[in-house]
Amino acid sequence: MFSERLASVKPSPSMAAKAKVDALRAQGRKVIDFTIGEPDFDTAPHIIEGGIDALKSGQTRYTASAGTPALRAAIARKLERENQLGFRTDEIVVGCGAKHIIYNAFAASLNEGDEVIVPAPFWVSYPDMVALQAAKPVIVACSEESGFKLAPDALAAAITPRTRWLILNTPNNPSGAVYTRDELEAICNVLRAHPQVWLMTDEIYEHFVYNGVKHVSPLQIAPDLRERTLLVNGLSKAYAFTGWRIGYGAGPVELVKRINLLLTQSTTCASAMSQAAAVVALDGPQQCVSEAARLFESRRDRVMELIARIPGLSCVRPDGAFYVFVNVQQLLGLQTAMGKSLQSDVDVMNFFIEEAGVAVIDGTSYGCPGFLRMSFATSMEEIEAGFAAIASAVAGCTAVSGMKSA
Ligand code: PMP
Ligand code: GLU
Repeated sequence: MFSERLASVKPSPSMAAKAKVDALRAQGRKVIDFTIGEPDFDTAPHIIEGGIDALKSGQTRYTASAGTPALRAAIARKLERENQLGFRTDEIVVGCGAKHIIYNAFAASLNEGDEVIVPAPFWVSYPDMVALQAAKPVIVACSEESGFKLAPDALAAAITPRTRWLILNTPNNPSGAVYTRDELEAICNVLRAHPQVWLMTDEIYEHFVYNGVKHVSPLQIAPDLRERTLLVNGLSKAYAFTGWRIGYGAGPVELVKRINLLLTQSTTCASAMSQAAAVVALDGPQQCVSEAARLFESRRDRVMELIARIPGLSCVRPDGAFYVFVNVQQLLGLQTAMGKSLQSDVDVMNFFIEEAGVAVIDGTSYGCPGFLRMSFATSMEEIEAGFAAIASAVAGCTAVSGMKSA
């Protein structure tokens, strides 16, 4: 009865983790949630007003499936203003979130047996979306020593005649890595030698960069790759807009048309109200975005201090996004106060929820065993309480010989 392709797909681990937290809370358990990656504050009032005004003025109907002309024009202005990239509106397609655009871009371009290069650690949905098209995710490991960034020679070694895409996410979920201009230049140089390989750039965290680090869009430095690049972005993170579901792709017309073809036969269009609010967000004052970035930066700084105090945890400082990707390998081999033996990052994740009441996500889900992802898109109070609980749970661990760990 069910599609054989589903055999290669698991539920999104971040969505599964959120569901687990919701279920535990419904049972009355107190849980500190470091799982889901979404801003913990509301959409700015002027943007909400934009949505309400749209409803009151009758924008309650289907829109063009590629997005309203007004929103595509606002996206074109945004790409020009913030990324110095010129796109016509027929090179832009709006979807129900960036996730929807990535999914449909793969559906529009992949055939059975095609390969997509996915640098690890990766955002959980990329490999499964590729597998759903009967194509093959080719995972390329990026070491902690390299700051979790894709090495050009590793990319070159992974390319075959069947490679159709490289998906590059900067700033990165889960590692927080932000590629520099030079690093992108080196990656683009490899791609130049392989015309069959397209580049998908997921730039959804572009505004959340810290210590003066700047987000560089790969197309800024490699305009020659434009005919085979799809830039993906969305409003979810920058404008605390996750529930409105608006994302977009900008790229070659022939690809954009085919993504739109799939939209006409599936979702029809993104919500009219959300599209109108997105215009207000993109064209309006950008202070809410810069304030969110500074807030996340201060939380990141505090999280780094707290991690440094816990024996057995270590972390490369993320330059962007709102996650820390924490190395927990030194905890492996220990026994918890409740007698659980820690053999993997999944065990450590379970230990944190069961013995500290803190929910996190295992690095294995991101293609990187030995690590945990913790989202700091949550209040400073929760961050303090969560790390205090982790610190005391870890202090209660013993080496298998019965010695205290720390
Ligand atoms: N890309 C990355 C790297 C993400 O973390 C997310 C967050 N869910 C998305 C894409 C999709 O976001 P959305 O569908 O809400 O636009
Ligand atoms: N991107 C977010 C996360 O990684 C949202 C959940 C999802 O879409 O998987 O937590």
